Amino acid sequence: MTICFTLAQFREAISKLSDVYKIGFVPTMGALHKGHISLVKSALEYTPNVVVSIFVNPTQFNNPNDLARYPSNIEGDCKALEEAGTSIVFIPSKEEIYPKQDNRVFNLGTLDKTGEGPRRPGHFNGVAQVVTRLFDIVKPQLAFFGEKDFQQLAIIKHFTKELSYPIEIIACPTIRESDGLAMSSRNMLLTHEHRSAAPRIFSTLERAALMAAAQDLLTPTQLSQWVKEEIDQDPLLKTEYAEVVNSLTLELIDNWNQASEIQLCTAVFAGDVRLIDNIKIK
Ligand code: AMP
Repeated sequence: MTICFTLAQFREAISKLSDVYKIGFVPTMGALHKGHISLVKSALEYTPNVVVSIFVNPTQFNNPNDLARYPSNIEGDCKALEEAGTSIVFIPSKEEIYPKQDNRVFNLGTLDKTGEGPRRPGHFNGVAQVVTRLFDIVKPQLAFFGEKDFQQLAIIKHFTKELSYPIEIIACPTIRESDGLAMSSRNMLLTHEHRSAAPRIFSTLERAALMAAAQDLLTPTQLSQWVKEEIDQDPLLKTEYAEVVNSLTLELIDNWNQASEIQLCTAVFAGDVRLIDNIKIK
């Protein structure tokens, strides 16, 4: 595995990979866990040429405190990536990714009007900036993203198509701890008490999915309200939103027949750590 810190090093390393195979790309912000490694493993099912980037992208953080305390473990990450079978790890500096200020504004249509969009202004524009920049550098044919960040995945699929990148976006399932909590680099910031409370988030989503199956019981709006109340019964948790959306447009729905694919998405504060999760309803 080659570790590259500069564009020049990266270009040299990528030129040495066999061009018989496609380039599979896994962008990350580091502090890697089994969820990230599962993306690498998925990529290896398609191609031996797997590139992973580790870059904590400042333009997608609307909260400077969240950026400042974002965990980092480059040494451990490289070890895990090497064991997993990665070909190249690209760990660029901010200057390599943004040699000048990136002022691009992306039109994300309806996709950033719900969920994380209004709660983290500028976040998805920052994601689009960094992912397009990385696509331009890495030039993969395949790119792998987790369903854990469901809205991000929808947005990346959207601009990849809109901007005509010849890249296939592959969605990978959410990897969870044994108690159901979605793996996240932020989980390591949880106190012991908040870590114990956090599995309630996914167990509530699972119960909500079962309730949604009996469609005449609750409307989507009532179900969202039920999820919030259920999670917030634990004083250590505070739901920021729980929304039932059309999985393709991410618009809120208020009737079960309004969309052929439906997702329930939530963000919950466990103390000052913000956790997101989602589940397929239909
Ligand atoms: P991040 O480092 O948080 O930006 O995540 C990098 C990639 O890993 C994104 O495509 C995430 O959706 C994905 N990812 C993060 N957590 C998980 C998880 N628990 N299961 C599957 N994929 C994940």
